[in-house]
Amino acid sequence: MESDSILVSWFNKLLNPSKWGNHLEDRDKRVEVEAILEKITSGLMADRQEINFLLSLTNQSEIELLFKAARKSRETNFGDEIFLYGFVYFSTYCRNNCIFCFYRSCNQASSRYRKTPAQVIETSVKLADSGVDLLDLTMGEDPYYFNSGNFEELVDLVASVKEKTVLPLMISPGLVPTSVIQGFSEVGVDWYACYQETHNRELFTKMRLNQDYDQRLKVKGYAHQLGMLAEEGLLVGVGETAGDLAYSFEVMDKIAADQVRVMSFIPQKGTPLENIQTGSSLRELLVIAVMRLLFPDRLIPASLDVDGIGGLKDRLNAGANVVTSIIPPEEGLMGVSQSTLDIDEGGRTVAGTIPILHDCGLQPAGKGNYSRWVENRKKRYITRNSKQEQEA
Ligand code: SF4
Repeated sequence: MESDSILVSWFNKLLNPSKWGNHLEDRDKRVEVEAILEKITSGLMADRQEINFLLSLTNQSEIELLFKAARKSRETNFGDEIFLYGFVYFSTYCRNNCIFCFYRSCNQASSRYRKTPAQVIETSVKLADSGVDLLDLTMGEDPYYFNSGNFEELVDLVASVKEKTVLPLMISPGLVPTSVIQGFSEVGVDWYACYQETHNRELFTKMRLNQDYDQRLKVKGYAHQLGMLAEEGLLVGVGETAGDLAYSFEVMDKIAADQVRVMSFIPQKGTPLENIQTGSSLRELLVIAVMRLLFPDRLIPASLDVDGIGGLKDRLNAGANVVTSIIPPEEGLMGVSQSTLDIDEGGRTVAGTIPILHDCGLQPAGKGNYSRWVENRKKRYITRNSKQEQEA
């Protein structure tokens, strides 16, 4: 395994803004932006160079053209309705050592907890009562389950949350065995989330140390085989190029990710990348907007976990249609990238979110509408799976 200092110097070399140079800088960019947006919104595929061009925009008025097109696409497909996700990070123990993550196993600065089943259920019920449309139950690859291989307790816990809340559920437990995903499916879990963060294999290897790229990608297809929905996620600001992102969109399309997420890298205390210099969240916003255009009928989160409640408006204006990382205050629960930001102040709540939706001319969709979207989307996999079974 490479030493931390070799990895840090590798990331420092990668974080070179010149990689984001625009190949069309001598041309009239505004006209070019309009032409590409026209092409995409008329249903034609943008090529990698065009996507690269959109992701490299720096001029505010050109960026606003892109965001406006993204908002229009959201309006066409989802009206003014936004879905709200409650986040329950119930175990911060992890056997892995991802270089970007605060909860990597060797980080002494990280706070560790494993909530009891009673605490998880209580928090989930509170979130459900507060008006969220879905509960995202997340943990690191907790050795308590992964070392013993005893996931029954976990599946039972998830089943209890389902029974008590009757809400759609997403589970983000890391790379669990397929039999466990089947267990989740059987107790009514709707979503399986498992992020690559990048589809550049070299970058993946440096970020998700000692993890298997292919296995991680393939498991999302397994969730689809069970009739579940799958979320894929990207991390930006870790040295990826615009070309890497364009390729990621192709992979997301190929695996038919039902929800596509992007978050900006935040350097984490106690990790080798703690002192890496990062930029603004602009790249994340550009990716949200481009994904909205490329995947008009998918769910795209505005995560409260990067810039807190203060960053929500920008993400909605870029075309996101889900607010994620709503966390109840004073329950001792953590976020992922921003482990405490705005949580105990009550900023990351449904009540804190709604005024911002209204400011943007948007409104919460409500449970019924979200459940309908999920059930409709699941039908495509259930129909496909039964067709495949008949043909076999
Ligand atoms: S990103 Fe997930 S798998 Fe990696 S160290 Fe953090 S919690 Fe563990």
